[in-house]
Amino acid sequence: MILNARQKDAVAINHPFQCMAEGCENCYTTARYAAKCHKVGAVDLRDGSLILFSEEAENQARLEDETRWAAIAAEYRYECSCGEAYTTIPHAIGCRKCRDYTAEGYCTTVWDRSTDEVVWKIS
Ligand SMILES: [Zn+2]
Ligand SMILES: [Zn+2]
Repeated sequence: MILNARQKDAVAINHPFQCMAEGCENCYTTARYAAKCHKVGAVDLRDGSLILFSEEAENQARLEDETRWAAIAAEYRYECSCGEAYTTIPHAIGCRKCRDYTAEGYCTTVWDRSTDEVVWKIS
């Protein structure tokens, strides 16, 4: 397929999937995002192949995203004074951002997000 300058740029910056909707020239990093743009489909500008939008595939992908995010959230459950999330209590206590984002300049309290309980307090 023959690409215009805009499409060549899109490929160059790694956004090779263009929305298939009439008049829409949005380009994306993945076929899924391009297909979702107008819920029509995506064109792979590198070889001209088409990926049609499917509600089913989209729902499936969304479900996988949610599962992945839930897993990440479960892993990063310890929250320091400045609101950053960490996988362990010692990591949360040692948060470097607390230096800049808390009045004290260091972490004073750590919460467990899964229970909303304080799991550590500075003594
Ligand atoms: Zn679009
Ligand atoms: Zn912090």
